[in-house]
Parts: sequence; C-alpha cells; structure tokens
Amino acid sequence: MSARVDIAVVGSGAAGIAAAVTAARAGHATLLLDQRPAAGGTGGFSGLTTFCGLYDDEGEFLNDGFMREFAEAVAESGPLRMGRVWVLPYRPTRFREAAGRLLEITPTLQTRWNTQLADVVVEGNRIVGLNGFPVGAVIDCTGTAEVARAIAAECLATNETTQAPAIIFPLHNVARDLSTPAAVAQVLLPLARAGLPPLNFQPCLEPNTISVKFTGRAEQASQLIEFLQTHIGGFENCLTPVTDFKTAQRAGRMIVGQYLLTGSDVLEGRTFPDAVARCAWPIEQWNPQGQAQFRYLPPGAHYQIPARSLRAASTDNLFMAGKTISADVDAIGSARVMGCCLATGAAAGDLAAKWIQSQ
Ligand SMILES: Cc1cc2nc3c(=O)[nH]c(=O)nc-3n(C[C@H](O)[C@H](O)[C@H](O)COP(=O)(O)OP(=O)(O)OC[C@H]3O[C@@H](n4cnc5c(N)ncnc54)[C@H](O)[C@@H]3O)c2cc1C
Repeated sequence: MSARVDIAVVGSGAAGIAAAVTAARAGHATLLLDQRPAAGGTGGFSGLTTFCGLYDDEGEFLNDGFMREFAEAVAESGPLRMGRVWVLPYRPTRFREAAGRLLEITPTLQTRWNTQLADVVVEGNRIVGLNGFPVGAVIDCTGTAEVARAIAAECLATNETTQAPAIIFPLHNVARDLSTPAAVAQVLLPLARAGLPPLNFQPCLEPNTISVKFTGRAEQASQLIEFLQTHIGGFENCLTPVTDFKTAQRAGRMIVGQYLLTGSDVLEGRTFPDAVARCAWPIEQWNPQGQAQFRYLPPGAHYQIPARSLRAASTDNLFMAGKTISADVDAIGSARVMGCCLATGAAAGDLAAKWIQSQ
C-alpha cells in the first residue's frame, strides 16, 4: 500500500487540473492521475482552439479564482466575439504547458501519468482506496464518470444524438475570410451538394489557419480536404499536419448528485443558495449529421451551479467536476464547455478540501 492521500483526482482535463491545484493549495496531500502521458485532457490534446464558457455577455469573466487564473495563463489575446458569445482563442500546446507548470509548482500535489483508474475500494458509504492509495476523498473528473462506474454509483449518460463526436484538425494556408455566417455558408453549400458532412470553423492563433470540426468519419477527412483544395477558392493550398485523424467524444456520463441541474435551470438563469460556479453558455447540442442547435439564456443572464451538483448522492466522499457533474442531458450541453469545467473543478477541489477538514 502507498502513503495515504487526502484527495485523489482522477482525470486531468480542465476540471481535473482545477480540482487538483485547488485541493492541494488548501494544504491537502493530493494525487492527480490520468491515463494520458500528461495533463490537458480534451482541451489540451484534441486540437480545440477556442475556450468557451469563460465570459458573460459583456466579455467579462464569469468566475474569478482558478478559472480566471488559468485562462490568463493560457491567453495570448483578449476574448473574441463569435455571434452572441465570447470565446478565448488559445493554442493547445500553451494549455498543456500552463497546466504542467501549475501542477509542478503546487506543493503537496503528486501526479501519475499513463495510469488507468483501478482498484477503487469502498467501505460503507465511502471510498477508502484507489489505485493502491488509501484516500480521504475522491474527485471524478474523467468526463465519463469512471470512478462512479467502478463503484456502481448511479449515473446518467448523454449519447450521440445530441452530443455527436467530431474530428478536430487545423488547416493551414487558408486565404479566405470566414468571419461571418454568410461567408461560411458559401463554403458549406458546395460541401453539402457534394454529399460531404458539414464543417464548423473555429478561429486559430496561427496565421492563415483555421481549426475545423468535422462530424464525419476519419476516412472522410482526407477526401474533405481534397474537395476544399479543388473546389473552394482560397483553400487551393490548404493543408493539415494531421495524418492520423482521431474522433473527439462530446458525449459523456454524469454522476447523479444531491441536486440534478436541469436544462430549465440553465435557460431560466436559476440561482441557488449553495452556488459555487456561474455559467452563461447556451445549451449546445450536435446531431450525428453535424448540425448544431444552440438554446441561449436571456440577454445578460447567467445560471449558477450548486455545490450539491458536485457531490454524489450515494457516496459521502465522492465529488465530481467538468463533464461528470450532476446534470441532465440538456444542462450538460451548456456546462461541459471548458470555462465551466475549470469553475466546477476548482469548486469541487474546495468542497473536497472542506469535507476533509470537517472529518
Ligand atoms: C468535438 C468537440 C468540440 C468541442 N468544442 C469545444 C470548444 O470549442 N470549446 C470548449 O470550451 N469546449 C469544447 N468542447 C467541450 C470540452 O472540450 C469538454 O467538454 C471539456 O474539455 C471536458 O473537460 P473535463 O475536464 O471534464 O474532461 P476531459 O478534458 O475529457 O478530461 C478527462 C480526462 O480523464 C482521463 N480519463 C478518463 N478515463 C480515465 C481512466 N479510466 N483512468 C485514468 N484517466 C482517465 C482522460 O484521459 C482525460 O484526460 C468540445 C468537445 C468536443 C468533443
């Protein structure tokens, strides 16, 4: 058996990074483990280039604390308005570096990479061991509720009818303006006529580069790039460094907690007495045909996330953050964006730390 850790955090995406640093800063021996070779999760490894969920309608930070600290560490520019929302363009390398630096300088925090979750030991209503470590509390930041699954705690799952996966890759040498919906439509129309799945373009910090979200199969990606080169003006010289196209999963699993955040809570901008995070991102759902539906909050509104949505209903010392919070399939369509994952991660780290202190 290894030395005891107070708080074990499983999963080192936006939520896990925030949870682990916050728990360790409270002075608790904290363990962060991930099956990947380094911290970053979806935000650091899938090719995404826009941080969503950080800002209100005015482009001001919705949450202070770790969410803001991390965004400022990653930022190379100010926020960018995209339609009705603000996003922060970023480079995934900088996301991973900022995470690595913060984890390294945080005392009482140890990390384990290339490490799968294993051996979750339960006694009564508590988790007492994880991967050979005796533990005081656990925060599930796996996006797919792996800790909860290991102990058969009740979960809800999204699926690909509302959270379809996508392939994300950069396209360099793009000499075409894609800054308005009309300009994008001129590219998407010929693609649709050719029977290719639709694309979504995201801004990139690299010059003459866009990030593409493609709701097709990996083997269609090369065909798509060839079509753009041959048929669309401004894409003649476009190319991607990616050779092995990988699908990123939007769908996840949420742990049933002491409160289940609902789509109505999101759209009505609900507040809670035990609020620990704020979010204003619309409910964003993607169908398998690659079409997105956005349901917005009223102008100027945001909703709150209660502490009870970060505490498992059935297990005293299991907390959750990011894509695994206790939310229904509509609410998670908003709360899964990275800004919100950072905020719930920091809140879960804080709640777990306070729970340990109360024992
Ligand atoms: C196609 C697509 C487009 C998106 N676009 C955007 C966007 O533009 N902007 C935005 O803000 N958000 C976007 N999102 C959503 C956002 O990226 C994710 O919801 C968010 O990053 C989730 O963060 P997380 O920390 O909860 O989980 P993740 O970042 O997924 O991290 C979970 C971590 O847990 C680890 N893990 C899982 N299982 C185990 C296990 N058994 N053992 C050990 N480790 C494990 C994984 O390796 C991973 O590192 C997009 C998502 C997808 C898929």
